[in-house]
Amino acid sequence: MQVEQKMSVDIAQFAVLPNGTNYPVIGLGTHNVTGGPGSVRDAVKYAIDIGYRSVDCAHAYLNEKEVGDGIQAKLDDGTIKDKKEIFITTKLWDTHHNRQHIKENFQKSLDNLKVNSVQLLIIHWPISLKDGDNLFPKDKNDQFMFENHDIVDTWKGMEELVDAGMAENIGLSNFNKTQIERILHSARIKPCNLQVEIHPYFSNRKLVDFCLSKGITVTAYAPLANPDSPLRTGKEPSIFDEPVLKDIAQKKGKTIAQVVLRFILQRNIIVIPKSVTPSRIKENFDVFRFSLSPDEMEQIWTLDKYPRIFIEK
Ligand code: NAP
Repeated sequence: MQVEQKMSVDIAQFAVLPNGTNYPVIGLGTHNVTGGPGSVRDAVKYAIDIGYRSVDCAHAYLNEKEVGDGIQAKLDDGTIKDKKEIFITTKLWDTHHNRQHIKENFQKSLDNLKVNSVQLLIIHWPISLKDGDNLFPKDKNDQFMFENHDIVDTWKGMEELVDAGMAENIGLSNFNKTQIERILHSARIKPCNLQVEIHPYFSNRKLVDFCLSKGITVTAYAPLANPDSPLRTGKEPSIFDEPVLKDIAQKKGKTIAQVVLRFILQRNIIVIPKSVTPSRIKENFDVFRFSLSPDEMEQIWTLDKYPRIFIEK
C-alpha cells in the first residue's frame, strides 16, 4: 500500500500525560460491530499508514490479537521503527477486577497485542462481574453474576502493573464523579485519563469539567454517537441527519463526522472514532486543518439534550 504524507496539523496533536507521555488527540477505536474477521487488523494497518499513532482496544472486544497483528505488520514493513510509536490503550474487563489475578489476566492482553507494556490501561467499568474467563457471567435466571471487589483495591492492582512496567499510565472508564473521587483519595498513582461517552447529543459537560480541573485528561468514546450501536433502540437521533450539523458541514466544505470530531477536539477532549472503512478512517483523521468559530460551537451545543446511548434499556 502506498504510504501517504502525514497530514499537517494546526492544533496540538498530543495531550501530554503527567509522566510526560504524549497521548495523540485522535486514535482509532476498535469495538467492531460492523466488520468481519480481519477487518480491525486491516483498519489498524491503514490507519498507521495515514498517520494515526493511537489505537483504543479492550480485552472485551476480543480482537486485541488483530490489533497486535496490524501493528506488527507495520513494524515488519518499516512504516514504524518501534512498536512504542503506537500509543496503545487497553482496558481491564469487569471479570478481572480481583487484585490477586490482575497481573496474570492482563498478561493475556499484552500477549495478544504482542507488546511488553501498553501506554495506557484503564478500568473498563466500575463494576465487578464474577471472576473468570466468561466475559458476561449469568445465572440460570439470566441475571448477571457480580463480585464484591472494592474498586479501590482493583486500583491498587493497577498501580502494581505500573510498578511491574506492564502499563505506563493508568486510568478509568465509565466512572462517575463520586467513584473518581474515591480513587483520587486513595491513589498512590493518580488516574491520568477518563474515557466516557461524549458526542454532541450527550456532552457529559460537568464530568468533563471536573476531570480537567483535576488534571485528568478525557477521551470521548462513541464520538459519532455510534450510528450502528446495538444499544440503540431506534428512537435515538443520528448526527448524520442533523440539520445544524449538515449546515455547518456544507459551509465548511467538511463532512458531518469531521465537524463533530472537531467540535469535541475544541473542547480539549481526545477522540477515538471507530471505523473499518478506509475512506472513513482517512476522513476522520483529517480534522486539523479547519476550526469551528465560537458561533458554530454554540450552535452544536444546542444538540446537547439527549440521554446516553451506552446504557442497557
Ligand atoms: P463511533 O466511533 O461513534 O461510531 C462508530 C460507527 O460509525 C461505526 O459503525 C462506523 O462504521 C461508523 N463511522 C465511522 N466513521 C464514520 C464516518 N466518517 N461517516 C459515517 N459513519 C462513520 O462509536 P464507537 O465505536 O462505539 O466508539 C468509538 C470507540 O470508543 C470504540 O470503537 C471503542 O474503541 C471505544 N469505546 C469505549 C467504550 C468504553 O466503555 N470505554 C464504549 C464504547 C466505545 P464502519 O466501521 O462500518 O465504517
